[in-house]
Parts: sequence; C-alpha cells; structure tokens
Amino acid sequence: MLLDLICFDCIKEQIDKGVPTTTIGDPIMTPFELVNNTGIYEVNCSKGHSSSTIIDNIDFEILFDYGLNAIVDGYYREAVSSLTAALERYYEFFIKTVLKATNIDFATIDKVWKNVSNQSERQTGAYVFLYLQTFGVEPSLLNTNKEVPFRNSVIHKGYIPNRQESIDYGNRIMELIESSLIDLKKKYPESVIETFKNYGYKEVATEKFEKIKKETGKEQDYACVNIMTTIDVINGREINSGDGRQGNVEKRLESMITGRSPRKLTLIKKQSNPTKASS
Ligand SMILES: [Zn+2]
Repeated sequence: MLLDLICFDCIKEQIDKGVPTTTIGDPIMTPFELVNNTGIYEVNCSKGHSSSTIIDNIDFEILFDYGLNAIVDGYYREAVSSLTAALERYYEFFIKTVLKATNIDFATIDKVWKNVSNQSERQTGAYVFLYLQTFGVEPSLLNTNKEVPFRNSVIHKGYIPNRQESIDYGNRIMELIESSLIDLKKKYPESVIETFKNYGYKEVATEKFEKIKKETGKEQDYACVNIMTTIDVINGREINSGDGRQGNVEKRLESMITGRSPRKLTLIKKQSNPTKASS
C-alpha cells in the first residue's frame, strides 16, 4: 500500500512565491511512500526535496485500506489478516470513546486497557457490553458459524482464501465497523474526536517531533495530511453522498487501482486560508 503524501518543501516554495493568494500554483506531484507504523514519512519528492510528512489518521482507518490493497495485489490471506486487525482496533477505539464520554480520562483508560491489551476475545467482550449499554441493543458481530471459523482458518491454520472470499469478508468488516462508527459519532461526537486525536498517528508523531526539538533545540518542519481512507472517523464518506469513496469493497478496489497512477495537487484559495486539492 502506498500513501499519497505531500512535500513540505514544494508547498513552502510555492507559498513563498505568493501561491495561492496572488498567483496560481503549478501542479505539485504527489509523492508516494509505503505505509508504516509510526505515521511519520520521510518524503523524497520528484524535485529532489527530502522532508517529513505526518498523517492525521488512526490505525484502523489505515489497516482497513491496507487490507483492500492486499486484495488488489492478490494477497488474500494478508487481506483477511489486516481486515481483522482493523475490526479489532475499531473495537478498541469504540471502547475508549465510550469510556471517555463517561468522563474517564485517557491515563486511566490506558492503565485499565493493559489488562486486556493482548486478549482480543476479552476486548470483543468489552465491546459487546459497552455497545449494549450505549445503544440498548446487541451489536452486530462476525457470525460464529461462518465468519469466525473462516477468519481462524486463515489466520491460524494457513488456509488460503480466494479473491471472492476475501472480498466477502471485507464487505462484512466494512459493514460492522461503519454502521457502529456512524452511530458512535452521532451519540458522542466530541468524545469521538478527542479519542481520535489522542490515539491517532498525528499525536504520536507530534510528540516525537517535540521531543527532538527539546533535545536538539532545532525546530522540526513537517507537513500534515489526512489520508482519505474508506473508513474515516473525521471526514466520513457518509457525510456527502457525492463522496468519491462510496460503494462496497468491489467498488473501492476499482478506486484503489485508479489511485495508484501518479497524481498531483494544486494549491487553491479557499476563503482566507490556503488549502490543497488533489487532481
Ligand atoms: Zn518537493
């Protein structure tokens, strides 16, 4: 999976020339980098710059699209593994958001989470009961007669699924996460944002840069970009019916193939603040 990033130096160069307030910018080629676990990307752009970009996303958003990219590439076992991880990390996000909404601080949540951090079954249990408490109904879960044995055979027994099986599993994971997340956003909009910010890549990356600044006394320049993932906490595709990320897994796979072609962005003027648009 490659992420569409931005080059801090290319953007700074254009802004220094007055783009986009006084003049229209030249298209800037979008640098691509392989996804990593830190959220910090050392970007080497086509103009030879080397700069840092951080992503404003959270783990399950990236893991889900990582799984879809694995389907595109024909790695169906790996797809099932990443999609499963996306669901498990979503459960963690849900649990922490609900706890935060009931005024429990993140330090306490983190301390208590350690008791279940290595046991996904216990995390699922916590999700089931907190969901019931939050919405008064039982949550939808993976089907124990079909989807759970399928997942276990792939992850633990070396079963190699075919393309259709991995797509079906992806559609199910998408439905489970998205339907729950949309309801969670309606119920606890503020807590969702706070939890996203606290556990997202941006927070971790910013802390790291602050630490370097403290140690070296050097200001760390970096750009920040929100990767428009299929499952998106802050800018969900459910907000706008014309959102280009609509559709089931099959449809998303088509978009991902198209999205692998080289792309560029142009700085445009939006109200009084410069922003970016991809093309
Ligand atoms: Zn550049």
